[in-house]
Amino acid sequence: MMRILMKNFTDQPPTNPEYHFSNDLHQFITGKRLLPDELPFTKDLIMHHHQNGYLQFNYGVKDFTCNRCGNKDRELFASFHCARCGKECGYCRKCIQMGRVSECTPLISWSGPMLSNATNHGLLWNGTLSKGQQLASDQVVEAVQNNTSLLVWAVCGAGKTEVLFKGIEVALVKGQRVCIATPRTDVVLELAPRLQQVFPETEIAVLYGGSEDRTKNAALTIATTHQLIRYYRAFDTIIIDEVDAFPYSMEPMLQHAANEARTEDGAIVYLSATPSKGMQREVRKKKLYSVVIPARYHGKPLPVPSFEWCGKWRAKLGKGRIPINVKLWIQQHYKDGKPIFLFVPDIELLKKVVGILQESYADEAAGVHSKDKERKEKVERFREGKIKILVTTTILERGVTVPDVQVGVLGAEDDIFTESALVQIAGRAGRNAKFPSGDVRFFHYGKTGEMNRARNHIRMMNYWAKQGGFLHV
Ligand SMILES: [Zn+2]
Ligand SMILES: [Zn+2]
Repeated sequence: MMRILMKNFTDQPPTNPEYHFSNDLHQFITGKRLLPDELPFTKDLIMHHHQNGYLQFNYGVKDFTCNRCGNKDRELFASFHCARCGKECGYCRKCIQMGRVSECTPLISWSGPMLSNATNHGLLWNGTLSKGQQLASDQVVEAVQNNTSLLVWAVCGAGKTEVLFKGIEVALVKGQRVCIATPRTDVVLELAPRLQQVFPETEIAVLYGGSEDRTKNAALTIATTHQLIRYYRAFDTIIIDEVDAFPYSMEPMLQHAANEARTEDGAIVYLSATPSKGMQREVRKKKLYSVVIPARYHGKPLPVPSFEWCGKWRAKLGKGRIPINVKLWIQQHYKDGKPIFLFVPDIELLKKVVGILQESYADEAAGVHSKDKERKEKVERFREGKIKILVTTTILERGVTVPDVQVGVLGAEDDIFTESALVQIAGRAGRNAKFPSGDVRFFHYGKTGEMNRARNHIRMMNYWAKQGGFLHV
């Protein structure tokens, strides 16, 4: 372990322009704030760079504040007898999973000049944007140029990735660094090849738990929101996709990280089909500028869910039966050869439902949940039509697109099915231009406010779409 203690580094020496700094070190650390142990360089090299003003050392933890994750909650600090500083040393428990930050540990960042990384960042894409997409794309470009904040509120299936292309190009051509962050690894893995295709000359760093690209200091970074915690004033533009999705919405630490990772006057673009109530409030108060795309790219309205009472379905499942109307609904779509998504509240119920369905449909029925190691394979088999009925928890509420899928929710009154979850679930149907409609059915034992709000939300978007295809808020 490298013994670099904070106490030695209270003063920042001026930058010595004569000093030949290490380009490797520069590339590695620029835009980040790292612990000594995260730097694969010798202590001497690090010290020389500090003494010549090229590396800055900041307190990791001081006065019950963690300068990496922003934690100020006293209960989330602890202390231990530290072998490095020889004292009782306080540390942050909140971000301990990223390596321990204690009172004697410095956070190291680059303070020397920045090298430009100008290359040819042309956009290679000749698709057409819908009217709503075009308006949103113009707003993204404006946010990038004026370094402002913007919420792109785009319904499921609006085609929000294409809306980003122009803005990203504008930023890259200016020599800026751009980061697209999203709470989910699946989305990172989906976006990376897509963006590499349209920005073929641009180096892209792809970061998620366990990824290899950690050292890359690329012009375009695609990362899970968790990874942002290592970055400091790194990105001129940060785009946060699915800003309302767990765990980002739950986690002030990640919001802090996003704010710290962008340059002081950097642009920030939020994308969501279902922005949180807090964010909608900011929009209404004009604190956050927003552009809404209420129409899907194919121009057809979003399928509106219908509600169907299905009695005491939990008790029925306990007796090895599925409510009769749910059973008939599945039978009908199965006979018509349509793929069926059935959402249930939790893993235990999922196992019961799958067990019952397999009595009739054998391995044409399957279940997926967050702890399922075969998740990817099963979704793939569902896409290929080998699995006809896929029972799932909310894990698949976003991102999965299967043409002509029919969508049911069993137990839609459960607390897990919030307005935003139900809107996302309904948004799985009718995405494909060839199959723009779909049956969305919420089976319940007592309607909830969330169910009503979800249906109203969808109707409202369809109404706005009919009025003109886009909307300014
Ligand atoms: Zn911390
Ligand atoms: Zn210590």
